Amino acid sequence: MHIKKQRLLTPGPTPLLPAALHAMMGSDIHHRTEDFRRLYKQVLSDLKEVLGTSNDVLVLVASGSGGLEASTQNFFSPGDEVLVCSAGKFGERWVDLMKVFGIKATVLTAPYGDVVRPEAMEQAIAHNKNIRGVFVQASETSTGAQHDVKSMGLAVKKTEAIFVVDAITGIGTMPLEIDAWGLDIVVGGSQKAFMIPPGLAFLSISPKAWAFAETAKAPRFYFDLRREKKSAVNGESAWTPNTALLLAFAEALKYIKSIGMDKLVENAQLLALATREAVQELGLELFSSSPGSSVTAVRPPAGMDSGLIVKEFRNRFDAIITNGQGSMKGQIFRLAHLGYFDFHDLFAVVAELELILAANGHPVRFGSGVARAQNVYAEAALPNAVPRERELALT
Ligand SMILES: *Cc1c(COP(=O)(O)O)cnc(C)c1O
Repeated sequence: MHIKKQRLLTPGPTPLLPAALHAMMGSDIHHRTEDFRRLYKQVLSDLKEVLGTSNDVLVLVASGSGGLEASTQNFFSPGDEVLVCSAGKFGERWVDLMKVFGIKATVLTAPYGDVVRPEAMEQAIAHNKNIRGVFVQASETSTGAQHDVKSMGLAVKKTEAIFVVDAITGIGTMPLEIDAWGLDIVVGGSQKAFMIPPGLAFLSISPKAWAFAETAKAPRFYFDLRREKKSAVNGESAWTPNTALLLAFAEALKYIKSIGMDKLVENAQLLALATREAVQELGLELFSSSPGSSVTAVRPPAGMDSGLIVKEFRNRFDAIITNGQGSMKGQIFRLAHLGYFDFHDLFAVVAELELILAANGHPVRFGSGVARAQNVYAEAALPNAVPRERELALT
């Protein structure tokens, strides 16, 4: 038998930042005190800073879906017309939400793995002047695909509609210029690139979106953002907050500020690039035609259920990776890069994948995938070492 350390390597929940985890033990504080108000104000201002927006930011006690619900019910009324750009499981969640609130959604659907093109979105809004909102996932975590939210946002900005972006795995994995691109509502979640456990959702809300909130008639109570905003000004939350998670969030935000949001994004991008190169070197195919950097979806070898790879990671290495969701179950496995992931994680995952493939009848040359990942690292971090490597290979 071998020692196996359990490792959480999924695209949410993601690996936890130790400092954030330790901070949670200080949660014996009361939320109507000056101590708490100081903490809450710090969290809101640091969050605003790392998101790089002048829009209001609010935090809710909920998983990410609570933020999606809030961004629907606070800005629209039953009978309103909206456009949903759906390219996977989370796009379908928008559609479900619209049904619940009686909002009439026109749905632009891209096949799983693909994305909705900005031109198609522009055409659809030009076609129907009644559309008051456009909804999309920045990063569609179920397929690993990434939408061009810049082009989409700039197009919606020219209209009366607001642009609502589920950026729950987009934040920290791709550049998002919230103000410049006209991203009116941006939703994030704690358990993705923010390196802390599930349980906090947050939103940035533009003045254009707040104007919608004035007339919105969809029912809401717990996630009433106007109420939340009033409390936030005083450093308080409307309801009893999750103090443990807020303490963790404060540490994570401090960490992200110390490295820089752009570096967090670059980290995910470089890991994603190295992963794509490594798995292709092993003869595997990428699933998405527009791969993002939050998670890489990979097809297993022909004839193999992807669930076997997920199970093998767990059984052999106690590493938890994810299968496809819904209809993609068995068709893809997903390797995550968002948040507190590093090259150490990646090299090990690729080496383990090689062993798992070999153990299940898919011949690989041990080290070939790892070498590809090492090359990506070397080109980025050891520019002087790369030419020497090449010279050695030539002699
Ligand atoms: C994780 C995630 C969500 C939210 O899911 P919860 O389980 O409610 O946290 C929503 N959208 C995307 C794109 C996600 O990755």
